[in-house]
Amino acid sequence: MTLPILQHPDPILRETCAPVTVFDEALQNLAEDMLHTMYDAPGRGLAAPQVGHAIRLFVMDTTWKEEDPTPQAFVNPQIIMASPETEVGEEGCLSLYGQTCQVRRPVEVTLRYQDLWGETHMDVFDGFAARCVQHERDHLDGILCIDYMDGAAA
Ligand code: ZN
Repeated sequence: MTLPILQHPDPILRETCAPVTVFDEALQNLAEDMLHTMYDAPGRGLAAPQVGHAIRLFVMDTTWKEEDPTPQAFVNPQIIMASPETEVGEEGCLSLYGQTCQVRRPVEVTLRYQDLWGETHMDVFDGFAARCVQHERDHLDGILCIDYMDGAAA
C-alpha cells in the first residue's frame, strides 16, 4: 500500500520520534508500505514520521535506481561512529518537494540498529549510503536537511 507523504511544514516532521519497543506484524507491514511508498515516489529513503508515524524507523534502498534493489529497514538506529572527514553533497527529501539542500556530512558512519524482528546489527556505510543514513536518521529527531542551510526558515 502506498501511503501519503507529509510535506514540510507538517508538525509531525518536527517531532522527536519514540523508540520502537514492539517488533510485531504491524511494524513489518508499516515498513513494507514505506518501501512501496518510497519506490513509488520515487526516492531512496523514507522515515516513518514522513508518513505520519512518529517512531524510530526508516527504510532505504540506495541502489535500485541504477542496479538491483536492496531494500532495508532500520529500527532504533544510532550513529555510533562518524569519520572526521566530511564532504558537501546535494540532498533531496520526499517531504521537501522540488527542493534540494547542500549539506556537509561525514563521509563514513557506523550505524547500530535493529531489524524488523528486533535483532541488533552494526554496519558501516560510506558514500551516498552514508549520506542517506544520516539524512533519514535526522528525520527521527525532527531535523530536515533545510536546517543545515544558512538562513533557512525552520
Ligand atoms: Zn528527507
